[in-house]
Amino acid sequence: MAREASQTVAVIGAGIIGLCAALEIQRCGHRVVLIEPEEPGGRQAASYGNGTWLSPASIMPISVPGLWRKVPGFLLDPTGPFVIRWRDLPGLAGWLLRFILAGRSWAQIEACVAARYPLCKDTVTDHAALAGEAGVPQLIRREGLIFVYRDRTEFLTEAREWEMRAALGVRFSLIEEDELRRLLPQLGAAYRFGARLDDGGQVADPGAYCRALAELALHRGATRVTARATGFTITSGRLRAVETDRGPVACDRAVIAAGIGSRDLARQAGDAVPLISERGYHVVIPDPGVELAAGLMPSDGKMGVVSTPQGLRLAGQVELASVSTPPDWRRADILLGFARAMFPALAERFEGAEIDRWMGHRPSTPDGLPCIGAASACPDVVHAFGHAHTGLIQAPATAKLVAALIDGRIPPFDPSPYSAKRFG
Ligand SMILES: Cc1cc2nc3c(=O)[nH]c(=O)nc-3n(C[C@H](O)[C@H](O)[C@H](O)COP(=O)(O)OP(=O)(O)OC[C@H]3O[C@@H](n4cnc5c(N)ncnc54)[C@H](O)[C@@H]3O)c2cc1C
Repeated sequence: MAREASQTVAVIGAGIIGLCAALEIQRCGHRVVLIEPEEPGGRQAASYGNGTWLSPASIMPISVPGLWRKVPGFLLDPTGPFVIRWRDLPGLAGWLLRFILAGRSWAQIEACVAARYPLCKDTVTDHAALAGEAGVPQLIRREGLIFVYRDRTEFLTEAREWEMRAALGVRFSLIEEDELRRLLPQLGAAYRFGARLDDGGQVADPGAYCRALAELALHRGATRVTARATGFTITSGRLRAVETDRGPVACDRAVIAAGIGSRDLARQAGDAVPLISERGYHVVIPDPGVELAAGLMPSDGKMGVVSTPQGLRLAGQVELASVSTPPDWRRADILLGFARAMFPALAERFEGAEIDRWMGHRPSTPDGLPCIGAASACPDVVHAFGHAHTGLIQAPATAKLVAALIDGRIPPFDPSPYSAKRFG
């Protein structure tokens, strides 16, 4: 592969994926134009309100064998951790079918896990380096992450998952009840067992982190266009400009990193990617009276429970619904219910608190892998979207792949599993 001379690269979207890509592209000596209609990492972005988890062990896709049996329950129980809005079902059915088919055998899961691991494994080290460069090293916490269970028997129901992690070399330690009480004195007595990811971490405040990365990119010479990208001008097979609602932005290359806004842009670049929103929610309880020793994930709620500078954040829930359907704030209240159940001694304190409720869009493909790679209509356009539940984790490795593709270098690992062409 021949290295490219200095190019002007338009990065569409300033969430965590676009920002990490921008910095990596600059590192290769190219000029960056950031196209984003809102504040980088603002409330509109999934990168603002997520569970903050940086887990090298986030290798499992959501769709696993046997999931199809649970679909009727997802349709019927409006308070479960995974719900499908009836009125949006016709538009989601095709995606849902592909989602179930993608996880119908353990051989498929193993292939998916093998493709996810290179995107996850160095997340904490890479984010720590970026945060250092951006002057905000304190935003990356490296205290590990703890999965909490009712008991060892419940942990063993996930033994296959943990065996896959161990086989890849992910380090974890098991925590018996006494140790769990010592580490997390306010955790309710219902949780009596834990598995600690020793190399896990957290972004203390993802919104502030995105702002710091955007400032760093600007400081290093990026320009900012406050506009919404609407399409591409491609002539004789080469990209000439990104079209926006404020006019064209001339460039040699473009990166589609617009989160849930990427689907329409990808289609214009020749790829019909089945991308939907797995909507998620968070609540933040200010002054909660507890500072967690590490980020938690309770086995029954599967949400991130983390201490942030703004308070105790619980982020999770999966709601399949169209992007424009109004939020269902009962889902945020379910998270609050978990906060009370996990920290019973503090439940009263939570009652009077002024809770911040947020809903955001996980940009999700049906097979648990993002789209990274050259677009079909023009290789000057590079996809970088579809990271679903793990975009914060996978952003630095995605950025390295994108920069290598733009720079004409051999990528640091095989990008073929992430090609948009897998969707035909
Ligand atoms: C409740 C919840 C919990 C989560 N927990 C975690 C976690 O613990 N760890 C983890 O790794 N991941 C987690 N995630 C997932 C993670 O947040 C996302 O995968 C990630 O933020 C996606 O980043 P992104 O940059 O692709 O998209 P976004 O952060 O959504 O950013 C996209 C940006 O593109 C802009 N944009 C959109 N359309 C256009 C356009 N046409 N032109 C220009 N700009 C445009 C938007 O304004 C936005 O700023 C969670 C998500 C949710 C919802």
